[in-house]
Amino acid sequence: MTVLIDELIREGLITAEQLNDARIKRIGAKKPLQELLVEMGFIAEEQLVSASSKIFNMPVTQLSKETIDPSAVRLVPYELAMRYGILPLRKEGDALVLAMSDPQDIMALDDIRLNTGMSVKPLLAAKSEINNHIKKYYQAEDNIYDILKNVMGADKVEIVTEDASEFFLDERAQRSEDVPAVKICNLILSDAVKQRASDIHIESQEKTVKVRYRIDGDLRNIMDLPVSLHSSLAARLKVLAQLDTAENRKPQDGRIKISVNGRKVDLRVSTIPTFYGEKIEMRLLDIQAAKTGLESMGFQGPDLDIYKQAITAAQGLILVTGPTGSGKTSTLYATLNVVKTEKNNIITIEDPIEYLIDGLNQMQVNPVKDLTFANALKSILRQDPNVILIGEIRDKETAEMAFQASLTGHLVLSTLHTNNAVASITRLVDIGLEPYLISSALILVVAQRLVKMICPHCKEKYQPDGHLLSLFKSHIDQLGIKEFYHGSGCSYCGFTGFLGRTAIFEIFRISEKIRGMIAQRFAEDEILSEAKKSGLKTLARAGLEKVSAGITTLEEIFNIVGAASEEEAVLRSAQAGKDIKILIVDDEEDILKILEKRLTDAGYRVVKARDGQEAVAFCNKEKPDLVISDVTMPKMNGFEEVKALRSKLETAVIPVILLTAREDKESELQGLDAGADDYLTKPFDSDKLLARVKMLLRRKQ
Ligand SMILES: [Zn+2]
Repeated sequence: MTVLIDELIREGLITAEQLNDARIKRIGAKKPLQELLVEMGFIAEEQLVSASSKIFNMPVTQLSKETIDPSAVRLVPYELAMRYGILPLRKEGDALVLAMSDPQDIMALDDIRLNTGMSVKPLLAAKSEINNHIKKYYQAEDNIYDILKNVMGADKVEIVTEDASEFFLDERAQRSEDVPAVKICNLILSDAVKQRASDIHIESQEKTVKVRYRIDGDLRNIMDLPVSLHSSLAARLKVLAQLDTAENRKPQDGRIKISVNGRKVDLRVSTIPTFYGEKIEMRLLDIQAAKTGLESMGFQGPDLDIYKQAITAAQGLILVTGPTGSGKTSTLYATLNVVKTEKNNIITIEDPIEYLIDGLNQMQVNPVKDLTFANALKSILRQDPNVILIGEIRDKETAEMAFQASLTGHLVLSTLHTNNAVASITRLVDIGLEPYLISSALILVVAQRLVKMICPHCKEKYQPDGHLLSLFKSHIDQLGIKEFYHGSGCSYCGFTGFLGRTAIFEIFRISEKIRGMIAQRFAEDEILSEAKKSGLKTLARAGLEKVSAGITTLEEIFNIVGAASEEEAVLRSAQAGKDIKILIVDDEEDILKILEKRLTDAGYRVVKARDGQEAVAFCNKEKPDLVISDVTMPKMNGFEEVKALRSKLETAVIPVILLTAREDKESELQGLDAGADDYLTKPFDSDKLLARVKMLLRRKQ
């Protein structure tokens, strides 16, 4: 029996029976006896503290009245403070004053002494009070501890630098107050690499710091961190990217090289000041990815042959087109990797340089120093390279020089922002190029997109939406597609049904005949139909081939390239309506059926609800473009429904048409009063209904 327990009995603070009860409980609890006595309500915490103070002759402190020195707190790591239930308070000479609840814990004192290299002056305090203060003073640590606790297996993240002194900087940071920031930073970087993210966004908001990744082209919320971590996290990343840590009002750009489990990744870091603090964006450039070949990008069969033949030409111009994020740069790098072996002098002008590749001379555009694409090109041509890569053609001057260069013994590769391959001709004419110049130099144009691939772990057969099938009917028939696949969602794909992306290509070869058509200023659609005759495969067709092979879904192709609308103007208008979602609300199944048929025939997407409540719930979740609702319904009628929608900012702007059998002026007024935009009486004329729908949707834009 300990002295403390003896004293408690002698003072009559606990009874022998209570002590016995606590002893029995202790067998499973592995806690000091006195702690159990408090927990079981036999003695108050303050009584225990004052009794301990008397016996061990240790002064008592009340933490709520202490001024705690954060630099003293930092001397003891969080794990140690938690393990022993101690809180550092302040430094007194070379002694560390700390609060503890168990004066008999000699091991704790020894350990702290060893860890800090200081002598220790303990004060007594209530255990619960100490725990609360540990939570408060190690708040960031506490949060990280919670996060890290759930993350399995630590990855080895190394910051790769050429300069050895940087290592020192990093080591020092490890030991300083930024330990939680260092830990969370490593966690985010390694996790992002493992999840194949292309970007990391760290955004400070009012109450949280949002961490999001872009994976396969989509942004995903990864986690919310406490706001208290933002400044140290931002500072940590800025140190790594060699940015000015004191500057947080101006945007800055930098780079970090890391290695995650031996895999090297380049990060392009940019910071932007926002109202709630700096937003940090990091682009992950996988160095392995820069070594990708054309085949693994998705180039196949005849496409690959045509392309490979084109890039072996001694001179001429090759364009890769597509929107931002369509993988144009990867295609160009893959191309350079092929030509690199045959041609010896390759020069690139980029903005910015994404990957550094062995054997190339890469130049970064710098408008501040007046190094534009055009100026850079001028100086490059003096060095007489065989192959020139120009990051992008944006203006007439660059375009003209690129075309001139490609007529004088250089193979020129570049990119252009257009939706399809043939449209690049129109775009170049718009920039200000003479058609004869285009026709004489252009060899080939590739339009490309990245499409998500079905996750192989949860891939299954399914039946796509009827409307979608009709949009691609001709291709589906021609390719004889009988079965469709999608991913049902699983843990491998983060329940998205997709894993990874592949490219689809539209290859437009400039034949002799097309050359003539360009020079004679033929219209785009005439050139397109000629190109198709000689084998051009549109992006939609290339996409449908991937659907046929079970690589991607019909929905994905629709999202990325739109409908296969080159055939019919009718389909084009249907596609325009496809994006418009109309919610129809009625408790009568027949009316719902009629409305659905009319609206889907007109190309709209239709969603149904059976009463006002269901309608409001849907609108809150997934804003439709228009609501057509009955008035008399169970649970919530049409008037109440409109009022509910109008009462929230988010749903207030959704246009509503009320539909009812009552043909009296009064209910019409009541409906408009509630905030309905239009009113129609049943039985309605469907032409009239469609006219009103169109009118309201137009008004909305
Ligand atoms: Zn899956």
